[in-house]
Amino acid sequence: MKRSYIREILDAIDENTISFAGGLPNEDLFPSKQLKKASKKVFKNKNSLQYSKSQGIDSLREKIANFYTKYYDFETSKDEILITTGSQQAFDIILKSLDAKNLVVESPSYIGALSAFKILKTNIQEFKTFEQLENILKKDDVIYSISDYQNPSTNTYTKKQREEFANILHKKDVYFIEDAAYSLLSFDGKIRKPISRLYKDKSYHLGTFSKIVAPGLRVGWIRANKELIEKILAVKESLDLHTSTFNQMLIDTYLDENDVFKHIKKNAKNYKKRMNFMADCMEKYLPNFEFKRPKGGMFIYGRFNNIDDSMNLAKEALKENVAFVPAEVFYFDNQKSNEARFNFTNCDFKKTKKGIRLLAKLIK
Ligand code: PMP
Repeated sequence: MKRSYIREILDAIDENTISFAGGLPNEDLFPSKQLKKASKKVFKNKNSLQYSKSQGIDSLREKIANFYTKYYDFETSKDEILITTGSQQAFDIILKSLDAKNLVVESPSYIGALSAFKILKTNIQEFKTFEQLENILKKDDVIYSISDYQNPSTNTYTKKQREEFANILHKKDVYFIEDAAYSLLSFDGKIRKPISRLYKDKSYHLGTFSKIVAPGLRVGWIRANKELIEKILAVKESLDLHTSTFNQMLIDTYLDENDVFKHIKKNAKNYKKRMNFMADCMEKYLPNFEFKRPKGGMFIYGRFNNIDDSMNLAKEALKENVAFVPAEVFYFDNQKSNEARFNFTNCDFKKTKKGIRLLAKLIK
């Protein structure tokens, strides 16, 4: 198995690199002080260092279930939540529980999901339009989709498209994995309603604290109905018994003591400013890079109209200490592409401008 190109870039990056490559949240926004305070309390409870339930600790699942009811208008009980070790683990758990033969993904799609699917040797097909999706799908296939601020394309389905998507799922009677890694990081204040809400029986909705609290804690979750949770619980147990008790209790205590939605809003405001700054620089210095400003998330995605292989540019840029991700890695067959993904959350304004100008110079 080949390592992900992004992980390779991340290994090559040092303190001199201007990096638009990884999907790293900004560490200055981590609620470190609040987590430190919570951790003292958690350490006092000996259960935090003990084994715990494979499905996850009750009070954290209860709080996550309440997020669904309150913010997504999606009635959910704690029995419908399973805590995972990052949402990355959810891909492995779900596919192993389904023994899926065919998997259908958006084109392009999240590289981490593609590599988790590839290792299971599942047959993968890509779709760009609903028409293609409908033609490809067969009963009991599995579809993977990121409905908000998609990684990498930043695409966000409209309300009408969500209804259309759900109609196709009903018609074809398939399993649906909806990845909501970025859904709460909205720039217009709107939290969009999941497609799974319109297709409850065979869907898995994935969430994570990585983008809204801190990724190093590795706490994510799956929302699914009780029968599906029963099935995935057996796989979760066999993989790691349970997600770190300490980290679950740490987040649980953090949520007790703080208004996480206020924290998320503050982060989204900060990220929106960074996005607009990067977008302004691109419009000024890279006029041939065609993109749409995203409505949320952590990336700008677009195409260079004046070059035909963004991988070449990425390699040359890395020599000059500027990193971004060429889009071929987001396509299942690694087709040559002039598209590229830029992260704006982890680089200050000065470096952002310098990095974009350097790319403009290289292209010239
Ligand atoms: N889904 C998407 C779309 C992502 O971009 C990421 C992280 N880059 C993940 C899932 C995994 O996140 P984590 O395991 O940290 O929850």
